[in-house]
Amino acid sequence: MSPTYTIKKEKMQQFVETIEDEYDVYGPVPRRTTHVFDKLDDPSLLDLDYDSTIMSPKKFFLPAEQNMLLFDNESGTVKDTIDRIEQMKPRLLLGIHSCDINGMLFLDRVFGGKYEDPYYQAYRENTTVIGLNCIEPCENGFCRSVNKNFVLEGYDLFLTEISDSHYYVHVGSPKGDRLLSLASEFFTRATPEDDAAFKQALKRKHESLPVDLHIDHIHESLDMAWDSPLWEELGEECMNCGSCALVCPTCYCFDVRDELDLSLQNGERKRKWDTCLYYDFALVAGNHNFREEPPVRNKYRIYHKMRGAIHEQGMIACIGCGRCISACPAGISIKDILNQLQNQWASSPTAMEG
Ligand code: SF4
Ligand code: SF4
Repeated sequence: MSPTYTIKKEKMQQFVETIEDEYDVYGPVPRRTTHVFDKLDDPSLLDLDYDSTIMSPKKFFLPAEQNMLLFDNESGTVKDTIDRIEQMKPRLLLGIHSCDINGMLFLDRVFGGKYEDPYYQAYRENTTVIGLNCIEPCENGFCRSVNKNFVLEGYDLFLTEISDSHYYVHVGSPKGDRLLSLASEFFTRATPEDDAAFKQALKRKHESLPVDLHIDHIHESLDMAWDSPLWEELGEECMNCGSCALVCPTCYCFDVRDELDLSLQNGERKRKWDTCLYYDFALVAGNHNFREEPPVRNKYRIYHKMRGAIHEQGMIACIGCGRCISACPAGISIKDILNQLQNQWASSPTAMEG
């Protein structure tokens, strides 16, 4: 097992200042009543005592709008933009919660599996991640209910608060070793007392994070719920604004469009976030829309996240971050929907007979 360390909380700002020649450092900073991940041009704004952020770290690997390639019809040239990513100054994301690291691990499967995405891979390769354990629950999160409250991989360093003054530090990769050597003055080898404090912190975490949803039989529940009136009710409430999908760390759909300049000769190919909740997502040639009505689109999203993703990626596409609940103007909660589905399963004749 790799050695573990501690770092003083009061040194985090200096730590950022020490490494910012080597990295563009991003971390949680206050924004109105919540937090966002932003570049730490002013390291004093770093606030690791944050609840959640509006957008997830997805934006660093799959930007909301991305220029994929440039084309010039006159000269007949096409140039992709991957080298722009590769030539970027290395990025460091600081203070990424376990749920969000799990979201990144999900996207790694999507963009690194059957259809490897070189843009995503280049961003991922360019980025170092310092994770942060959550000891207290956040307002709308249910990470423990979906087993996304811990990580064993996906980080380079990982911080756990063990006292008012110190973080305990795990090293997860050679990138993490490099960070340690760059700023070695801030890290001290953990003592047996620190190890004991770390275990106490995990105990506190275990006691504080609630389990208010059980998804053990979610695929059976979904199998039985195909004709449930729940989908019509949901379709009536939902405004199809797409906010829930845009803030979601595991929603990865995008649309690709070519945009020409005024000469109609040169242009660029862009991809932009898209979502199955939009009317035109499933609109195809001939004006046929195979998910025209809102209830069908809502149903599709839940089935894809909680059932289809297991087949495609081996895990559900929800980390329980609760961002969709915070963002929904209609007050729709995926946790409530899943609980209703589970209750239908629990009260079904088959379940009772079984
Ligand atoms: S569906 Fe909601 S709770 Fe689940 S990962 Fe997406 S935003 Fe988070
Ligand atoms: S945020 Fe709420 S209203 Fe908007 S699409 Fe999602 S569920 Fe519907």
